[in-house]
Amino acid sequence: MELACLDLEGVLIPEIWIAFAEKTGIEELKATTRDIPDYDVLMQQRLKLLDQHGFGLPQIQEVIGELDPLPGAKEFLDWLRERFQVVILSDTFYEFAMPLMKKLGYPALLCHKLEVSDTGQITDYLLRQRDPKRQSVRAFQLLNYRVIAAGDSYNDTTMLKQAEAGILFHAPENVIAEFPQFPAVHTFDELKQEFLKASAVHSVG
Ligand SMILES: [Mg+2]
Repeated sequence: MELACLDLEGVLIPEIWIAFAEKTGIEELKATTRDIPDYDVLMQQRLKLLDQHGFGLPQIQEVIGELDPLPGAKEFLDWLRERFQVVILSDTFYEFAMPLMKKLGYPALLCHKLEVSDTGQITDYLLRQRDPKRQSVRAFQLLNYRVIAAGDSYNDTTMLKQAEAGILFHAPENVIAEFPQFPAVHTFDELKQEFLKASAVHSVG
């Protein structure tokens, strides 16, 4: 049995924090782990900025609801789901992803969770576990699934290594150079071909 695991941001949808920063004009929200390596410090700063600008969860979801999946993403996902069981493994939060998951037809999603007060203020966040993408792939393998995984960034590489086959999609040059063991492709057509090549069940053509 085969399972396809996909990263979400940068693969099927835009980077949510960056897109949100662009929509709202809050420049400081564009900071990523490249600018602030400590994820906890980064998240606390993000939550503080949201508070300062008066954004509670309802307002955030409204802005995110105006975003769209990347061009061709929905068609690709439909194609993939006809051939594999698909699980999306993401480091985002359910509350942020949901408006976009609707536009993707609500595929299975494993990610993190926010703590929200009655007034809609985001008070904290809960990470599901450490190294969640790799742990998820390990768990699927214990259930006798052979896993083919695709992602675009550093936070995907432990998942790609753990999987029976890993594919880089839309990855920046530095990630491609650092992980030459993974095929790297940039279009959904190429990604389809890589899934077929990696499959023990389907053949290319
Ligand atoms: Mg990503």
